[in-house]
Amino acid sequence: MVCTGCALLCEDVEKYDGEVRDACRIGTAHIRNRQQINPMVDRKVVDMDSAIKGALDILSHAKRPVFVGFGNSITETQQTGIRLAEKIDASIKTFHTGIIENILNNRVKTCTLSDVRDYADVIVFWECDPMNTHPRLLSKYAYYPRGEKRQHGWEEDRIAITIDLRYSHTASICREVHKIHPGLDADFIDALIDGLHNKVPKTTYDKKQILKLAGTLKKAEFGVIFAGTGMTTPQDAIIRLMDELNEVSNFHILPMTPGYNLRSIAAQLHGRADSGIDMHEADCVLCLGFDLLNSLPVHEINGKMIVIDPNDTISSRYADVVIPCAAGGVDCAGSAVRMDGVEVDLPRIMESERISDASIMNQLLEAM
Ligand code: SF4
Repeated sequence: MVCTGCALLCEDVEKYDGEVRDACRIGTAHIRNRQQINPMVDRKVVDMDSAIKGALDILSHAKRPVFVGFGNSITETQQTGIRLAEKIDASIKTFHTGIIENILNNRVKTCTLSDVRDYADVIVFWECDPMNTHPRLLSKYAYYPRGEKRQHGWEEDRIAITIDLRYSHTASICREVHKIHPGLDADFIDALIDGLHNKVPKTTYDKKQILKLAGTLKKAEFGVIFAGTGMTTPQDAIIRLMDELNEVSNFHILPMTPGYNLRSIAAQLHGRADSGIDMHEADCVLCLGFDLLNSLPVHEINGKMIVIDPNDTISSRYADVVIPCAAGGVDCAGSAVRMDGVEVDLPRIMESERISDASIMNQLLEAM
């Protein structure tokens, strides 16, 4: 089976008689998750048809609809969701897609995870903590495995570096750790660029440390930066850094996407005009596989809320309409795009009575 617990989409996970093998703790919890929700309207349990009718009611009266999420849905659902958004002029909001945009625009150099495993000798974890978000990244690709050009193991062949606001779990295995001050990411980048040009940087950061980091990055045969959702630096600064790094070295960037299929929706929305309705102005917010209230206080939402999700979430407890759906790669088949852009088929591994979010979106699309 393919695990959809994160954007690594591990294809070597197995499930026998309820036992999950070779998945990490996030994947195991994801595959075994049974915190399923009931269809609800106005926080009362109803049947599926009534929940879908409730959603149609809200959508058909909406003047400023916003769709949020899409990163935890199969590609087929995303496609139908976009068609529905176009039909009712809804804005689609996904998050943390800036670096993917730059990759799609060929503004930064990227590579695949297999390239990282086979060639990478300098690996930078920039404001990300894969040990807690993409737990098998280090063992399958980024640090521990032997690869075509990295046959001597991590002790000799690879240098891992963390650049982050805090000392993360991932930092604990890194040879170099650099702390960034909140809001001063761009200053750190400027100082590093000076260091790459052998100039002593004018900065509040430790100059010796910056010069040491610049020296390590310059020596890379094949460097990769894993850019986390915390990498809030203006995109122009990231592009500038990548350009400068590639003047003196060979560096690639890969986005650590939070949803298992965020890369797919980012590609589908690339270059598409959006109605640009602000979340605060929305009179209807449709959350697709996304727990909006986990990151936004409820008083920031002024419209009616529809939640389509396999599981119980904070948002599903506040929503006006809740529609449960099957989970991609568990009780729903489809396809997805891994964080490095590789397409992956997601077989279904168990039967259930839940219907897919693709089918729900299709019903909404046909009825609107
Ligand atoms: S690393 Fe991600 S895809 Fe792989 S088993 Fe863990 S949660 Fe699943």
